Amino acid sequence: MLKVAKFGGTSLCDADQIKKVLNIVKADPARRIIVVSAPGKRNSHDQKITDLFKEWHRLQTMELPTRIVSDVIFDRFDWIISGLGIDFDISEALKDIQNAIAGGASEDYAASRGEYLNGLIVAQALNCAFIDPADYLLFHPRGHYLSARQSLRNALLQHDRVVVPGFYGATAAREIKTFSRGGSDITGAIIAEAVSADVYENWTDVSGLLMADPRIVENPQGVASLSHRELRELTYMGANVFHEEATLPVRRAGIPINIKNTNEPEHSGTMVVSESTPETERLITGIAGRKNFSVITIEKTMMNQEIGFIRKILAVLESHGISIEHVPGGIDTVSIIVGNADLAEKTDEVVREINNVCQPESVTVQPNLAMIAIVGRNMIHTPGVAARVFTAIAKAGINTRLINQGSSELNIIVGVDNAMYEDTIRAIYAEFVK
Ligand code: ASP
Repeated sequence: MLKVAKFGGTSLCDADQIKKVLNIVKADPARRIIVVSAPGKRNSHDQKITDLFKEWHRLQTMELPTRIVSDVIFDRFDWIISGLGIDFDISEALKDIQNAIAGGASEDYAASRGEYLNGLIVAQALNCAFIDPADYLLFHPRGHYLSARQSLRNALLQHDRVVVPGFYGATAAREIKTFSRGGSDITGAIIAEAVSADVYENWTDVSGLLMADPRIVENPQGVASLSHRELRELTYMGANVFHEEATLPVRRAGIPINIKNTNEPEHSGTMVVSESTPETERLITGIAGRKNFSVITIEKTMMNQEIGFIRKILAVLESHGISIEHVPGGIDTVSIIVGNADLAEKTDEVVREINNVCQPESVTVQPNLAMIAIVGRNMIHTPGVAARVFTAIAKAGINTRLINQGSSELNIIVGVDNAMYEDTIRAIYAEFVK
């Protein structure tokens, strides 16, 4: 049995939390590859180490004094080391970082140092090997991730136990690059795939995925198990317990993900598996959503006979660098859903260009739409689910502005006014979870 265990920032925010992590790791010899985030927030007023490093870098580039931030970072690491009671001198590593930032190192370099230092500390505390992902995770010079080096698998498996910092890698020229925020989940997933792990454990501060956002629905039920595809749909639409991009490598390799709570390790958490697990009778697995979309609606009679019509619209959006979320359509209308912020001040120009290239009857833009996804693998075989969703929304006095069902039938997506977002989620939850 081989487990890759990734621990998030709140699981490693101070010495007490790190001690819990050490106990969890030591409790299971199969936990051989440990991926760590940087120390996160200790409370809601605190700052993440990653943000402090970014701030340090910002001050440096503006040629402002940096001591005020670097001292806070140094103190925090000193405090962690003394709290753990380990014999570890981090001052050399800190001095190198200080010199590098003063010498013009990149923002990605600075942002990655929290993971790097935390990795060194946790490896020391576990008395095990340390592997720097800069040697194995290859990035493009423009910043996106390319691939893991062939040698990664052997490098990891030659140790009984090894700690790897999350969140970064490097270009072929050894320039440090980071994933997007929360990206240690991605490192863990890539590593799990590289070593063909039996399980990818993702340790965080909640006991798995909840059926809905607990800030909206009071005490929502937990999700004991779901499929990789369901997780992907839910994280894409806003469930933020797991990084959206991290679902892909593990799904490809068919590796189960177990989302678990460092503060409640006995709780089984959420299992994410390839096959649909029949064990749940529930029609829906979860509800997630996001606010602030705009709908561009284009109307033209007989548009379906015009070859290339939609391509022309999409080309306009592409030329403005606007990414598209959904494209629900009717016979003589098509709607394009984009982010409010992406369209914003480009709205007039985009409308003018669509009018020019398509000669439609009308183009309208309605901003401030919230999109809500109702996700569930059991919906496929059950008639009437959509009817129940829309009846629940209508009964709550909410107007559905848009409906989209993916051809996978794994989800139903509804669009409502931003202001109705929370009420809609509550109405759907109440309908399906009694
Ligand atoms: N430390 C990074 C962040 O704050 C990455 C991570 O925690 O996964 O985004």
